[in-house]
Amino acid sequence: MPLLDFLASHALAFVFSALLLGLLVGSFLNVVVYRLPIMLKSDWQGEAREILGLPAEEKGATFNLFLPNSQCPCCGHEIRPWENLPIISYLALRGRCSSCKSPISKRYPLVELACGLLSAYVAWHFGFGWQAGAILLLTWGLLAMSLIDADHQWLPDVLVLPLLWLGLTLNLFGLFTSLEEAVLGAIGGYLALWSVAALFKLITRRDGMGNGDFKLLALFGAWGGWQVLPLTILLSSCTGAILGSILLRLNNRGLGTEIPYGPYLALAGWIALLWGDSITSTYLHFANFK
Ligand SMILES: [Zn+2]
Repeated sequence: MPLLDFLASHALAFVFSALLLGLLVGSFLNVVVYRLPIMLKSDWQGEAREILGLPAEEKGATFNLFLPNSQCPCCGHEIRPWENLPIISYLALRGRCSSCKSPISKRYPLVELACGLLSAYVAWHFGFGWQAGAILLLTWGLLAMSLIDADHQWLPDVLVLPLLWLGLTLNLFGLFTSLEEAVLGAIGGYLALWSVAALFKLITRRDGMGNGDFKLLALFGAWGGWQVLPLTILLSSCTGAILGSILLRLNNRGLGTEIPYGPYLALAGWIALLWGDSITSTYLHFANFK
């Protein structure tokens, strides 16, 4: 295909296309983060009513991920396509609904911007090829699950598990690591956090971590092999402890408050996948020169 040939030979064009694609995907992720939890809960309620022999409820979720178009939460004004352009529309509308002028959350353009910049970086880091394509998909999935975890303290299986399987499948062809290391990574990742949580529960008789966190670490093992696990755990617990306590203090909440671990784990695992080798070798380099 001429377009792919062009992107393969022009690095900057590839990075720029990834930026544009990332902005558009970011706009879609805003919809996923809002709608997916509502759709899943409505499905489960329907199933639970069926199992309990209760009559089906009249109305479940009235949307899917694509239809109908988004609406203003204040006045119900349907967002038209030109009002849905990533970032540009937000700036053009000065952050307000075109109909009722109520403010639009800053989170929407920020998620679009973050998704665009992360995608551009992935394109630049890996260059044109299968690795860049795979990590782009992973990055978008991680962004969606981090936001859902931050909102609902819940990492949905429908996002985590397909990406875990995708990592193993890609490494069947050795895209990032050998299949053996990927399988060991998936098993090791799950067991590492599961055993910490089991120990925590034994001592405190409370749940300290969600099952989703075990699966998310297994996902990173499946993509990068067992080698990415130590750095991912180290980085996520440090950033989680530091940022978590800052957020708790800012929001004036006690230490018993539940903080979602998923976003920190996602960020740490992403960093370990992209820079794990250089971080570890820099560390070993300095450790040798005491
Ligand atoms: Zn409105």
